[in-house]
Amino acid sequence: MNKIEHIGIAVSNLEAAINNYEKLLNTPVYKTEEIVSESVKTAFLQCGPNKVELLEATAADSAIAKFIDKKGDGIHHIAFEVVDIIAEMQRLKNEGFVLLNDAPKLGADNKLVCFVHPKTANGVLIELCQSIGTNPSE
Ligand code: ZN
Repeated sequence: MNKIEHIGIAVSNLEAAINNYEKLLNTPVYKTEEIVSESVKTAFLQCGPNKVELLEATAADSAIAKFIDKKGDGIHHIAFEVVDIIAEMQRLKNEGFVLLNDAPKLGADNKLVCFVHPKTANGVLIELCQSIGTNPSE
């Protein structure tokens, strides 16, 4: 894996969180995006080589809504950038990690994503993400 690509933070109020994080990081949100299939609205801020992804649920049954019901606002996942997500998913499966999806899904910010179950990653939800079009074997 190359680097931490972004840190995902679950928020109950995206507009308020955007205002707060723009002040905190002293940089404007450069992109907002709704992922209808995941029932989530996202906003991205760049911080050096890494990003912060703010996530607000758009439906009561979304994963972000359930997270906030249980734990409140907070760090939801850590995303690592990979070059070949298929190969990385296979490698992790071989190592005994439990993946939450069998095939990469289309995520926010023009990425293919896959999640690793927190129970096999010491309580942290891990996201693998590959920028679409960067895998030379595609
Ligand atoms: Zn993410």
